[in-house]
Amino acid sequence: ESPDGRKILEFRSSLPAYKEKEAILSAISRNQVLIISGETGCGKTTQVPQFILESEIELVRGAVCNIICTQPRRIAAISVSERVAFERGEKLGETVGYKVRLEGMQGRDTHLLFCTTGILLRRLLDDKKLKGITHIIVDEIHERGINEDFLLVVLKDLLAFRPELKLILMSATLDAELFSSYFNNASTMKIPGFTYPVRTQFLEDILEISGYRLTPDNQIDDYGPERIWKMNKQLPGKRKSQLSSALEDVLRAADFNYYSPQTSESLSCWNPDFIGFNLIQYILCNICEHERPGAILVFMIGWDDINALKEKLLTHPVLSDPNRVLLVMCHGSMDSLEQRLIFQEPEDGVRKIVLATNIAETSITINDIVFVIDCGKAKESSYDALNNTCCLLPTWISKVSVQQRRGRAGRVQPGECYHLYPRYVYDSFTEHQLPEILRMPLQSLCLQIKSLKLGSISEFLSRALQSPEILAVQNAIEYLKTIGALDENENLTILGRHLVVLPMEPKLGKMLIFGVIFNCLDPILTIVAGLTVRCPFLTPSDKKDLAQAAKSQFSHDYSDHLAIVRAYDSWKDAEIDNAGHEYCWKNFLSPQSMKVIEALRVEFLSLLKDIGLVDRNMSSCNAWSYDMYLIRAAICYGLYPGICSVVHKDKSFSLKTTDDGKVLLHSNSVNARESRIPYPWLVFNEKIKVNSVFLRDSTAVPDSVVLLFGGSISKGDTDGHLKMSGGYLEFFVKPA
Ligand code: ADP
Ligand code: MG
Repeated sequence: ESPDGRKILEFRSSLPAYKEKEAILSAISRNQVLIISGETGCGKTTQVPQFILESEIELVRGAVCNIICTQPRRIAAISVSERVAFERGEKLGETVGYKVRLEGMQGRDTHLLFCTTGILLRRLLDDKKLKGITHIIVDEIHERGINEDFLLVVLKDLLAFRPELKLILMSATLDAELFSSYFNNASTMKIPGFTYPVRTQFLEDILEISGYRLTPDNQIDDYGPERIWKMNKQLPGKRKSQLSSALEDVLRAADFNYYSPQTSESLSCWNPDFIGFNLIQYILCNICEHERPGAILVFMIGWDDINALKEKLLTHPVLSDPNRVLLVMCHGSMDSLEQRLIFQEPEDGVRKIVLATNIAETSITINDIVFVIDCGKAKESSYDALNNTCCLLPTWISKVSVQQRRGRAGRVQPGECYHLYPRYVYDSFTEHQLPEILRMPLQSLCLQIKSLKLGSISEFLSRALQSPEILAVQNAIEYLKTIGALDENENLTILGRHLVVLPMEPKLGKMLIFGVIFNCLDPILTIVAGLTVRCPFLTPSDKKDLAQAAKSQFSHDYSDHLAIVRAYDSWKDAEIDNAGHEYCWKNFLSPQSMKVIEALRVEFLSLLKDIGLVDRNMSSCNAWSYDMYLIRAAICYGLYPGICSVVHKDKSFSLKTTDDGKVLLHSNSVNARESRIPYPWLVFNEKIKVNSVFLRDSTAVPDSVVLLFGGSISKGDTDGHLKMSGGYLEFFVKPA
């Protein structure tokens, strides 16, 4: 064996999972369903599938065994498969492969496949019984993702038909009983873990020990009003009152007699709506200058605040010095180069600082972390069935998440964890996060249920681990009927069948299809990719006016969607002269987003070719790509019923939605800076609820757009009630 091979074996056998190898294998052979839990990093994801593979090979069943291991995120599927192939001393795509949306590496000899949960669900479309698959491992079930919960219902049914099929569920934390009872008291196993003690400081301790002073200003100087997250306001009633009373306790400071007056005063300035960038910088600096070696992991909310923090740190003399600090980012949309950087060992004397989203909480384990800084928040999407609106907003995390984050510090030696909020706030956190199926819109899920021919939607969902609200199910079915994906009897229409195979929200899939029908796919590809990426336009708070002016120059069409197209096309032009980055810099565009849009366009186009909607030889730019009427029509057909009427009054206008609600334009929208909209309608892709309901991206549409292809939309006679109809799809798209 090579020295490398020996080192790897040494590493593998040091993992807690390794000591349980025989027990795990024997439990699998004795049970159809097994639930394995164990602390993050103990070796579940990388080792358990390997154990199975190795034992099957030993038993000379290697050629027939086929193991599928699902991951909630594509980034984890790729990174884990790379790791496992490496540990086996192979190239990726030999025995070990991966498959994620529109991308993969697998070969004839692949017997262990890591894939996203979505990929396995899609496979079920053509292969209901998962023929040839011997083991299914569903990983990270504790996250309670909507896809995983859905998959479990399907697999539960399948197990009865396939008695020889093995199902292994893996989870980081111990809610094993819930899953065990769901699968008729299935066996559970816990891999004993080992972590070093982690010294924990809550905000009051940090202030007391360091003497750092919070003032109202030093917490907010990195965030303009755009970033003020009214966290309390969007917490459900109970949690809200819990939190605010807890906060009052903190602020009253009576409980802080133990602490110095300075700390109490500092605490009274603490603002839960901000992440104190200055405080983070202070802690980082302190660690870099005074503490023992070891990497630092900073849990932030999302990509945008990670970027903002990085920008700030790069102006700091110590933290920006490459001889002292290796600054890397870890988030869901990083590329493989960035991914490798996270695991990289820095040179002696250089400290690694990782700015991460909650992806580093359980799915990606970075080995050399000794210090953790936790902002206590994560982005959480939630769906309000009553008002039929979605929010994707920062919220406080659960206690389980806090423990996970803290645990990341104690993997290699005793660690330190800094929580940027007081202990009282922690006490008010919920134990677990609400499962996605209870807080997400169910449209895509309903489409999937129909496409897998699983019978009545509501009956099926009533058999889930936890069933969603009836109103949420009804809203989803109603929506799918409205957009023409389901007929009156809840059966898939031709449009519905096409939407099932497009891996995006139904409205974006529909927009793509109409881009094809109207022969103006090129800009629509950009728009759909842009809406998937979310934030191509940057708005740093200190240069907000400049940023908005920059965005305005991309738009004189009363459309945020067309602004994405303009921005992307100009960036592409600049790229020809290798000036793309500079162009982004000058125009407040995110170069990363532009690159992702570019890649997604290619992916989406090839997908449309695969399913036969677009001719193989066609390039994306087609005949009517610059016809504004057609583009608007495609946008409108995609986003309907996200439409509202524009009511002008004096020198301003107001907006009224189909359900008679009042909505406002988000201040980043190009339309927010107009005093008149020359068209009677605005279509929008998302209502976001903060304090009021805001439309994020919108496009104005004239009546003629709607009438263009024989559709009709009418304001009704009285109070702006909207109606729209159209039945062209079957005419334009051949059945799949
Ligand atoms: P679990 O699934 O139980 O959380 P994993 O199997 O993901 O644990 O990881 C086991 C060990 O392998 C961890 O110590 C982790 O740091 C290490 N590891 C995983 N992926 C990589 C990688 N790409 N590079 C280096 N080490 C890795
Ligand atoms: Mg894992």
